Amino acid sequence: MSSHEPVTVIGLGVMGQALAGALLAVGHPTTVWNRTAAKGDALVEAGAVRAASVADAVAASPLVVLCTLDYPTVRGTLEPAVGQLRGRTVVNLTNGSPAQADEMAAWVTGHGAEYVDGGIMAVPPTIATDEAFLLYSGPERVFAAHRETLEVFGEARYVGAEIGLASLYDLALLDGMGFLFDGFHHSVAMALSHEGAGAEEFTGLLVRWLANMAKLLPALAADIDADRADGTAPQYTQGLDVQLAGQVNILRAARDAGVVDTVGLEHGKAKLEALIASGLTEWSSP
Ligand code: NDP
Repeated sequence: MSSHEPVTVIGLGVMGQALAGALLAVGHPTTVWNRTAAKGDALVEAGAVRAASVADAVAASPLVVLCTLDYPTVRGTLEPAVGQLRGRTVVNLTNGSPAQADEMAAWVTGHGAEYVDGGIMAVPPTIATDEAFLLYSGPERVFAAHRETLEVFGEARYVGAEIGLASLYDLALLDGMGFLFDGFHHSVAMALSHEGAGAEEFTGLLVRWLANMAKLLPALAADIDADRADGTAPQYTQGLDVQLAGQVNILRAARDAGVVDTVGLEHGKAKLEALIASGLTEWSSP
């Protein structure tokens, strides 16, 4: 497809508006539709065409991008336009599970359209910047045909033909992020139990520490891959007994500091205790 293929964007929440805005900014003829039409006003002012119905929106472009609340709303939104789907490509950037991606692919292709699933690893202000990357899965030939357009949103990373892969990796990345933010709040709450501590100053130390620890992740990943390939137990520098002693100290300090939510720490301690009880002395893949 040409670098200026017409695109329809359905779902104009904060993310959908950013996606449509990015397309308009580089000259793609862009048709938009949203349940609450007024959310498209600024895009229409910027040159987008507002479709009168979702069927008109789908009919307007060979590439239809969806970004709504969840998969049921994608399906519900597209239902009145099934007659227009044949021959088009649907790229669904709505957050969903791999199983939902499978179901959506079957439903969309059953109506004669191609289907690519995606996950957006960006927030609206970083769409179309170097920071943004988006994951895509589905038939490679279909992704390749629209890659140039999809690159407008941010780096378009094709992760594989299995339709649920983009969702799986998206959710796994969000899972890691969730633990990071939980850890941040927990860590800051502990530090702020000291009257003289400031969140910003402490966070400087936390970011430095986490950035150093993040450098260990590729080596841990290599251990996990090796373990999966030949059953060789990964070699880590700390035994489980040392980790458990440290975990007990963190839990005690958190309680002493008056941190209310210690569920995650207790879970970590119980997990280490269970591993030790099972006879392990070194961590192995979860
Ligand atoms: P918003 O709440 O801003 O927008 C939600 C969109 O879904 C709106 O277009 C809304 O329409 C539509 N919608 C909700 N319910 C229905 C329904 N019953 N029928 C039809 N349309 C409906 O959310 P975002 O734009 O932030 O998120 C959209 C997707 O993007 C989500 O899957 C989210 O996980 C993903 N995403 C968002 C990021 C972000 O930082 N915001 C980051 C990465 C991914 P209406 O305007 O009429 O309510």
